[in-house]
Amino acid sequence: MADTALDQLKRSGRVVVVGASLAGLRAAEVIREKGFAGSLTLIGDEPHEPYDRPPLSKQVLLGKADAERTLLPRRRDIDAEWRLGVAATGLDMAARTVKLADGEEVPYDRLLIATGVRARPWPNEAEGELGGVFTLRTREDGVGLARALNAGPRRVLVIGAGFTGSEIASACRERGLEVTVAERGNGPLVGALGGVIGAVAAELQRENGVDLRTGISVTALEGDSTGRVRAAHLSDGTTLECDVVVVGLGAQRNTEWLMGSGLGAGPRGIACDAGCRAFDLRGIVTDDIYVAGDVARSPHALFGYQFLSLEHWGNAVAQAETAAHNMMSESTDRRPHLWVPAFWSSQFGVNIKSVGVPSMGTEIMITQGSRAERRFTGVYGYQGRVIGAVTFDNGRWLQFYEKQIECTAPFPPPFTTVDRRPDGQRPIPADFPDPSVPTHGPTITLSGYSPADRRIATFTPAGH
Ligand SMILES: Cc1cc2nc3c(=O)[nH]c(=O)nc-3n(C[C@H](O)[C@H](O)[C@H](O)COP(=O)(O)OP(=O)(O)OC[C@H]3O[C@@H](n4cnc5c(N)ncnc54)[C@H](O)[C@@H]3O)c2cc1C
Repeated sequence: MADTALDQLKRSGRVVVVGASLAGLRAAEVIREKGFAGSLTLIGDEPHEPYDRPPLSKQVLLGKADAERTLLPRRRDIDAEWRLGVAATGLDMAARTVKLADGEEVPYDRLLIATGVRARPWPNEAEGELGGVFTLRTREDGVGLARALNAGPRRVLVIGAGFTGSEIASACRERGLEVTVAERGNGPLVGALGGVIGAVAAELQRENGVDLRTGISVTALEGDSTGRVRAAHLSDGTTLECDVVVVGLGAQRNTEWLMGSGLGAGPRGIACDAGCRAFDLRGIVTDDIYVAGDVARSPHALFGYQFLSLEHWGNAVAQAETAAHNMMSESTDRRPHLWVPAFWSSQFGVNIKSVGVPSMGTEIMITQGSRAERRFTGVYGYQGRVIGAVTFDNGRWLQFYEKQIECTAPFPPPFTTVDRRPDGQRPIPADFPDPSVPTHGPTITLSGYSPADRRIATFTPAGH
């Protein structure tokens, strides 16, 4: 049989992966699994081999895990050339090369971009550089923040009550530290789960001793004469003394290095088709550049073909696997990335899980358990169908609701459920913030139909 282009690629082609973390590593493993015998290069700007991020907020801050020991397990040998500690700074789509910060140009036949996101910094640079001010995304952030908490600060201020901010507040309370959480929305987790669940999360925080202040922004941070943070000024005119500040204002997509390349990349991520192939700026799909993980935006049939950007561990793995499969397949053997979003968090001793896209939901129904007991399942509805679900300490039911989402089951659920309480007899408004106002809390962002980002090239989140 004649040698196909795919055979040649697999035998002696060049695959380059930019972003050496969860998605990049998993893709590299699958690329080898598919029989790729050519050269494989992994480019990562961090100096470390791929490590896991969720333990940074869950175990490292509690002293239960050492940040140095969070390397991701390897599923197989990937026989790659590792270019760590060097950033990709440019892409030439015509010449098929990636430019590196050290001036080198790395040629590719197939490119996977998995450059993820970074923590949004405090908007005032000088204040953000004060000693004791942290964000939490990298291993270094985790080590630094854990050290600051070990030193026994008098008060920690967490700015932003999304998942990361809430988990940090939880870790502080578990360590017996005084912590204030300032959130400009009306409750924790409202961007991801809406106001009804935000109210439960607020009670949970307050009962656990968090000084939670909602509807409040931090307007400025103040340092002492040694350059360490000593106080924060709040939008209600008050001043809060604090010696550690954690900025939890969400994430920014690592796409700046692609500016001018012609790829459909911008502040909301890199647009790709359901097969993980990147779009160029004109909305035309490329055939040699793929995207996976937190940096990707891809359309999903279950959610109105909206482009979804997900900051979910499971999505990074699933999308990397699909991208790698498609990179190594004939066009007729390719498959779509149709992963149903799923997320977990643990805070204040409660296991919180979600599935689907709760933030598309206009209504929520507590189908099992009770909010007062913090053990329940909430089902989100959108235009008469089940679109998402959340559980507090009730995760065993989630798979069932995932199936309901997959088969576009009707909402409100017409069937009876075990442990249905009086407050679960009918749906109530889910109370999400206005979707046109970007929040720093969501772990899923819906971004319309446009594959290219020209229109939103100047997008900046409101208020920051
Ligand atoms: C504290 C914390 C807790 C979390 N908890 C949960 C959780 O409970 N559940 C959950 O589902 N998810 C959680 N997540 C999210 C999860 O970790 C991410 O979804 C996952 O890391 C995404 O993987 P990724 O490979 O796409 O991106 P990333 O892990 O962000 O990796 C991207 C890599 O690319 C590098 N890079 C960026 N630009 C360049 C460039 N130009 N050149 C070279 N390299 C570059 C980055 O430095 C980084 O190493 C958490 C994240 C954090 C930070």
